[in-house]
Amino acid sequence: MRKPFIAGNWKMNMLVDTGKGLVAQLKDRVRDVKGVEIAICPPAVLLPAICEEAKGSNIRVGAQNMYHENSGAFTGEVSGAMLKSIGCTYVILGHSERRHIFGEPDGLINAKVNAALAIGLKPILCVGEKLEQREAGRTEDVVGLQVVAGLYGVTAQQMEDVVIAYEPVWAIGTGKTATPSQAEEVHQLIRGLVTETYGEEVGQSLRIQYGGSVKPDNARGLLGLADIDGALVGGASLEAEPFSKIVMAAVE
Ligand code: PEP
Repeated sequence: MRKPFIAGNWKMNMLVDTGKGLVAQLKDRVRDVKGVEIAICPPAVLLPAICEEAKGSNIRVGAQNMYHENSGAFTGEVSGAMLKSIGCTYVILGHSERRHIFGEPDGLINAKVNAALAIGLKPILCVGEKLEQREAGRTEDVVGLQVVAGLYGVTAQQMEDVVIAYEPVWAIGTGKTATPSQAEEVHQLIRGLVTETYGEEVGQSLRIQYGGSVKPDNARGLLGLADIDGALVGGASLEAEPFSKIVMAAVE
């Protein structure tokens, strides 16, 4: 049985005081939630304050990105070792905004996935097709390649710590959500690929989140499907009420 996992991606939003305020409200609302893993992923500069605020609660903290070297002359970058040292559990890697605004290729994302695992951070590897790729019937190829390339060199044992987020690019921040059946179809494809590479046990225990305009009113329909094990939530994670409602949808 896979434990549902709801993670909030704050993107480049919030300041230290508003972020801490949001965590305080969330802690109140989800204090008694059991059986669902909850994480929030603030911008890097907020991480120490948010890790402190979330300490001792059932809310884990993740980063939105990292570099694959532990230290050195990489101006502007943050390493996995730094994230680990302040108490981060997760790191989002290969988010579509990293891929398409900042031009991150699969090879770099794969290096980051391996570096995160080596330092003891759990990667949330994001994959997803653009609208024109879906319309050209290329969803399977595009997502399949991102999964295989992103996991290159990852061992079966390390897969216990890997989460994959399927986020169709056309659904992120647009208000358009994949229908539950569109999402489920791609989730099955991802689980099938992981099963082919790592075997049935790893494939069945892999958690695959859906992301793309998840809101309280569509969460239940998505989370009710067999291969959808949680959600990566952008816009609706910026306020306590909608985010905690999505968490509650996962409880149900
Ligand atoms: C995201 O940032 O990963 C995301 C899915 O955003 P939104 O929920 O706003 O579409």
